[in-house]
Amino acid sequence: MFYISTRGHSVKKKFCEILLEGLAPDGGLYLPETYPKLLADDLQRCREIYFNKGYAYLAFEILSLYIDDIPHDDLLALCTKTYTEDVFGHRLITPLRKLDDTISILALSNGPTLAFKDMAMQLLGNLFEYELLRKNQELNILGATSGDTGSAAEYAMRGKKGVRVFMTSPDGRMSQFQKAQMFSLMDANIFNIAIQGVFDDCQDIVKEVSSDLDFKKSYNIGTVNSINWARLLAQVVYYFAGYFQATNGNTQRVSFSVPSGNFGNVCAGHVAKMMGLPVSKLVVATNENNVLDDFFKTGLYKVRDSMSTYETSSPSMDISKASNFERFIFDLLQRDSEQTANLFSTQLQTKGEFSLADHPEFLQIREKYGFVSGHSHHAQRLLAIQACFESLGEIIDPHTADGLNVARQFVEPGIPMVVLETALPIKFSDVIHEAIGIAPPIPDKFKHLETSALRFEAMPANTPLVKSFIAKHCA
Ligand SMILES: *Cc1c(COP(=O)(O)O)cnc(C)c1O
Repeated sequence: MFYISTRGHSVKKKFCEILLEGLAPDGGLYLPETYPKLLADDLQRCREIYFNKGYAYLAFEILSLYIDDIPHDDLLALCTKTYTEDVFGHRLITPLRKLDDTISILALSNGPTLAFKDMAMQLLGNLFEYELLRKNQELNILGATSGDTGSAAEYAMRGKKGVRVFMTSPDGRMSQFQKAQMFSLMDANIFNIAIQGVFDDCQDIVKEVSSDLDFKKSYNIGTVNSINWARLLAQVVYYFAGYFQATNGNTQRVSFSVPSGNFGNVCAGHVAKMMGLPVSKLVVATNENNVLDDFFKTGLYKVRDSMSTYETSSPSMDISKASNFERFIFDLLQRDSEQTANLFSTQLQTKGEFSLADHPEFLQIREKYGFVSGHSHHAQRLLAIQACFESLGEIIDPHTADGLNVARQFVEPGIPMVVLETALPIKFSDVIHEAIGIAPPIPDKFKHLETSALRFEAMPANTPLVKSFIAKHCA
């Protein structure tokens, strides 16, 4: 299996060559040359593997279709080491629970940081360690976070050989829980940098450090952002696991509703559908930052500047542009890399928008690809949380509430609707309290966080200072 760039660069790479990389040399995103197709027999085999041997073996089946430069036994060992009941709290890893006759919730947030990003990041940690050891290399991951991504990365990389994490976050602007979760890590290879500024300052610092190519090279600076193909691939697996739990046989179709920001999660659903998983609808659910909803409704993709990106009560979906979106557009345009490059590097750069409204392909979005969309406002999110609590006694987090809210608009008779649960409510207890007047219970394994010692370095928003901090700790 080779990987190509959405913008047409002639380079073709193997999985392990793109594992530690970000963008392709031409600024495009990597995608597999083709999507392996699963036939009815393959689906049946995967179903049996999932229920008889477990999620890790299912992950191995899917991953080995895309990864042919890690020996089979090693890849299987990486999967079984990653997806354990111990880490994810359930034998099925991503158990499905019914809300009513048609709608169920796929629990993706029982990993170490209680958000779905653990599903991919935990595997990435093990893949990175494996590959760095094989190449005899080191990697220093530099990131900016306002919550979920940074903590998932730290919990995935803690104690891993060959990897250090330098994570910047805006001082005093994360939720208490998120802060405690990250800053209580005492592992020698994890460094939290609390920047006296806002999230954009953190991102600017990361960009400035990464554009100093000499520094980047001498200190082996890398990232783990959401465009990483391995992360996306790991997410494909739970669409299969969700499908098998929601159906009895492999002719039935299922719809998925996905709380979306950078389009990584729902793009994995698109890949699963392209592989032959019988998916009816892929519901893209956004919050007030509805660039994706607008696109799927009108064909106009218009990115926001940071001034018009709202801070909402589902903050992990507060995006100005959807960094994985180019992958889907490339497929939609029949993999025409010239057109893709024109849209994303020329039109978006110069005008901040492009429109596919008049493209014949745009008309296929619903029929052929199953994409539909909607968005929710704060008040609707609160109502969804309330309704769920009052009728079912279930507390859902605000992101999952966006997913549930939009899902209801697209239920079809006889087709199960699976809402992806992207975080647990405890991470956003202020919003829950606002909705239902009580705070969600803290799971036992997190009770200690309230009293943990914290370790972090506070710094002004100053790139040279961050650089010298990195240099000092890499010596
Ligand atoms: C990251 C995140 C999302 C958005 O996922 P994308 O892959 O960026 O679309 C939704 N909900 C939660 C809780 C997240 O952490």
